[in-house]
Formats: sequence, structure tokens, C-alpha cells
Amino acid sequence: ASGYSLLRDPRYNKGLAFSEKERDAHYLRGLLPPTCITQELQEKKLMNNIRQYQVPLQRYMAMMELEERNERLFYKLLIDNVEELLPIVYTPTVGEACQKYGSIFRRPQGLFISLKEKGKILEVLKNWPERSIQVIVVTDGERILGLGDLGCQGMGIPVGKLALYTALGGIRPSACLPITIDVGTNNEKLLKDEFYIGLRQKRATGQEYSELLQEFMTAVKQNYGEKVLIQFEDFANHNAFELLAKYGTSHLVFNDDIQGTASVVLAGLVAAQKLVGGTLADQTFLFLGAGEAGTGIAELIALQISKETKGPLEEIRKKIWLVDSKGLIVSSRKESLQHFKKPWAHEHEPVGTLLDAVKAIKPTILIGSSGVGRTFTKEVIEAMASCNEKPIILSLSNPTSQSECTAEEAYGWSQGRAIFASGSPFDPVECNGKTFVPGQANNAYIFPGFGLGLVMSGAIRVHDDMLLAASEALAGQVMEENFEKGLIYPPFSNIRKISAHIAANVAAKAYDLGLATRLPRPQNLVKYAESCMYSPIYRNYR
Ligand code: NAP
Ligand code: MN
Repeated sequence: ASGYSLLRDPRYNKGLAFSEKERDAHYLRGLLPPTCITQELQEKKLMNNIRQYQVPLQRYMAMMELEERNERLFYKLLIDNVEELLPIVYTPTVGEACQKYGSIFRRPQGLFISLKEKGKILEVLKNWPERSIQVIVVTDGERILGLGDLGCQGMGIPVGKLALYTALGGIRPSACLPITIDVGTNNEKLLKDEFYIGLRQKRATGQEYSELLQEFMTAVKQNYGEKVLIQFEDFANHNAFELLAKYGTSHLVFNDDIQGTASVVLAGLVAAQKLVGGTLADQTFLFLGAGEAGTGIAELIALQISKETKGPLEEIRKKIWLVDSKGLIVSSRKESLQHFKKPWAHEHEPVGTLLDAVKAIKPTILIGSSGVGRTFTKEVIEAMASCNEKPIILSLSNPTSQSECTAEEAYGWSQGRAIFASGSPFDPVECNGKTFVPGQANNAYIFPGFGLGLVMSGAIRVHDDMLLAASEALAGQVMEENFEKGLIYPPFSNIRKISAHIAANVAAKAYDLGLATRLPRPQNLVKYAESCMYSPIYRNYR
């Protein structure tokens, strides 16, 4: 290839880092200024540039431009500066990027499959330049983060999630495929926006919707085989539960909003047992919010306890209670409940408010997954603190403004007794002369390592036991010095190592269950996971 095209190909471009020899061998003379610099110096320069931007969206755009220009450098930045850049490449900034995706759209970073492509989806897949795909993240844009229906502009989410699959989990970039399925949008503002990039129609539903998804799922399996991981992301909750149930037995599918959330939260709760002393089976759980996150977590907790105690799930579920927008979920409401809530409708008189539910149920663990901020009031936290020595309180709703309570409130209102973690990050808090560091129940702890574990073992189905395996591995990475600060999650700076441990545990489970196809089983799965991980260091071209 000509030197010029080498510079234009983000996969191979090294910019000023091309050596003298490479410049001679690949017709690059004159196309670059004389200086040769290291990848480290390039990284330093770009981080300086990015930090100049005050507006997060500008930082996001600078990162996306880098990805399109020099892929390895993009991943080097992301890996080395993960805590700083994660909020740029992913939530919260990616949300703003999706809202403005029409205006900032430059080049496709993934595949758009709309109703117009009905009957031709297999051909569309073949238009993508890469043949061997290992992970697909797909959205239909109906419930992007906490921002609602963003239609086709949801594409920022699969793009961002897959960047994390590579940076945190080590999946090769060329093996990642972001997809947005466009069946229209019910977002009036977007429908009227002259820069909107999607179909200008109301969302297709019912048969029209399920036929398009069926064609998509069939085409993916036909084109990429049985071992490609399809991650559903940010679907509205009726479709999310249905798609997972429908395709879980025929495809390798995973829903991060339901299963990834469940696994990361379970890990924190398992770790927290070291701080409270006891096991999960000793706890009583109360959720505010009974959607994808809440019921997904509840189900996985029950499964974990059933493994520990060998008890029947139906009995175990009785210690897990959920409140939705209509109050405590109880058996008298059973007729009108969505099916995913039914397992949680226990015998109890109706209770209208969260505070009354806390007083009636006396939970040891309170979990916020409602998407509504400021709902863990002073009274609620005080009620938790009055019936527990160390109440465990998780405020999972994002973004920060929707958090059920702040870290300061959780520690302050419980006289520093709460064990607290949240969905959005909070700064450390001084309380009673002690510094508390709140953990963040970030899904990015789990899904990259989980995906790597599936890919490296050649798994063909996801099994709930693999989610438990991922939680166990993550909980095992919380060290004594983390616990001392009140943390129930390990520091994010070790994420590549954490991902390797999660991957190894998930792969081991895949082998044990007979769902792995990559044989023989490697002896040391952690080492093997590490050896599979993509490195962003430049290669030498001869
Ligand atoms: P979802 O499927 O829409 O579920 C929301 C649930 O909250 C529904 O059950 C809803 O009740 C209930 N709810 C809404 N308003 C309420 C109110 N005022 N009082 C009581 N319940 C109320 O949403 P989701 O996907 O589960 O996400 C929920 C939240 O969790 C979001 O803020 C998201 O950011 C957060 N989340 C955090 C993490 C993490 O920390 N790692 C991961 C995933 C999600 P009805 O069923 O009656 O409508
Ligand atoms: Mn999501």
C-alpha cells in the first residue's frame, strides 16, 4: 500500500511515531515532518490537548476524531487514563453526544439497520468491512441511559460500549461491531429536528418490530456463527425482557442493563458481607424501582442465595421486596402486574410509600433503582439506621441528579454507619472525623471481562451461573485496604487485571457447563485471558 493510505488508515496509522526505517520502507518520506516521536510523547501531547477543552462534548469529539485517525493511540489514551476518560467516552458525556448526534455525525462508526433494510439485513451485514466479529452491541434507541427515546441517535451507545470492551476487556477493535436498529422514534423533538439522522416516523411495534428483530438475529447467526456475542443495550424494558427470553436459548445474548447491572450489584453486596459479617441469606432486601435493573438484581441475588443455602428459590424470594411507582409490590396486585414483577408479589397488606415500606419490612439492604432522585429522604435513611447497625444503602439511579441520595446524606443521616455505593460517582465524604470513600457500582466493572470470558472460551450460550461467576470474581478483587475506607468495589485503575479475573471465572463456568467450544481448556485461565487481551502498543512495520 502507498504511504499516503497508511497514514489515512486508523488501524495502521502511527503519525509521527513512524520510524526512519518505516518511512523508507513504506513510501512515507516527505509525507511527515522530519521529527520522529514515541507513542508516549504522542499520548502526552493529546492528553494536554484534550484537557484544554472545558466542554465535555468537545473532549468527546476530540476522542472520536482520534479514534478515526489513530486507533492504537486512542486505546492507549483510554487505557492509561481510564478514570479520567471513561466519563467522556461513556456516561455521562456520551448521553449528550447522542442527543446531538445528528449535528456531530461525521463518519459511520457502526451499522445502521432500519425498516428500509427489511429483507436485506444479511446483505447489510456483508457491507461491514470486517469478517470475524466477536462482539456486537445493538440498541434500538428507545431508552438511552436515563434520557429516553433518542431513536437512531442512540448509536453513540454501542460505539462507546464497544470502545470499553476493547479498552477494559481487551477485545480486538476489529472484532467489535456497533449496530443501531432504527424502527422510528416517538421523540417529537427529534422528528421535527432538521438534522435528525433517523427514520422520520413513529416507532414500529408489535409484529413489524418483532419481524425486523427476528430477521436481524437470524442474519447475525448466519453471517458470524454461533459464537458471536450479541449485547442488547438500552432497549425499553418490555422489549428488553422479551428479547432476552426469546433469544437466550438460540443465541449468545446478554443484556447489560438487566444482567450486567445485576452482576455488578451482586458483587458489591457479596463484598459488603465482609463489612457487616454474615451472608446474603441473613439479609432482607428492599428495592425502590422494579424495572430492568431492580428485578434483574433481585433475581440474581435470589439465585446466589439458593446456591449458598441449597434452598428453593420461591422461599428465598420472600426476603426480597420491591416498590414500584404504585407502592410495595404485594400479592393483591398480582392480576395487573407485568410478568417480571410477579415473582416478587408476596403476601402483605398494601403499602403506599417507601418510608412505610422500610418501617414494615425492616430491610437490612436498601437499593434504589427507580431513576428518580432524592427519594431516599432523611426519614428513610434514619429508619434504615434505626433498625440496622450497618445499613447497606445503594443509590443506583443515574445521572448524579437522579441519585436516590448523595453519599454525604447516606453517611450523615446514618451517623457514618451506612455502607454506601452509587451508580454515579461521588467524592469522598468526611463524617464523624472519618473519611468515607463511596464505591461506584459501574457496569463497566463487569461487561468487558464477562464478554472476554465468553469469547475466549468460545461460549455459545449465556447461563445465569456465569453472571454469578463474574460477581464472585469482582468481589474477590476488593482488598483489605479498600474495605477499610468503606469501599465495596475495587479501584477502577486496576480494571484490566480485574477483567482478566472475571473473564477467567466466566470461562471456567462455561467449560464446567459444557457451553465452551474452544478446546482444549487452557490450564491457567487468568494467564490465558491476559494473553488474549488486545494491546494498544504500536507494532513495527517492516
Ligand atoms: P426501568 O426499567 O424504567 O425501571 C424503573 C422502575 O422504577 C420501574 O419499576 C418504575 O415503576 C419505578 N419507578 C419510577 N418512578 C418511581 C417512583 N417515583 N417511585 C417508585 N418507583 C418508581 O429503568 P431501569 O433500567 O431499571 O433503570 C432504573 C435506574 O437504575 C436508572 O436511573 C438507571 O440509571 C439506574 N441504573 C444504574 C446502574 C448502575 O448503577 N450500575 C445500572 C443500570 C441502571 P413502574 O414499574 O411502576 O413504572
Ligand atoms: Mn445501558
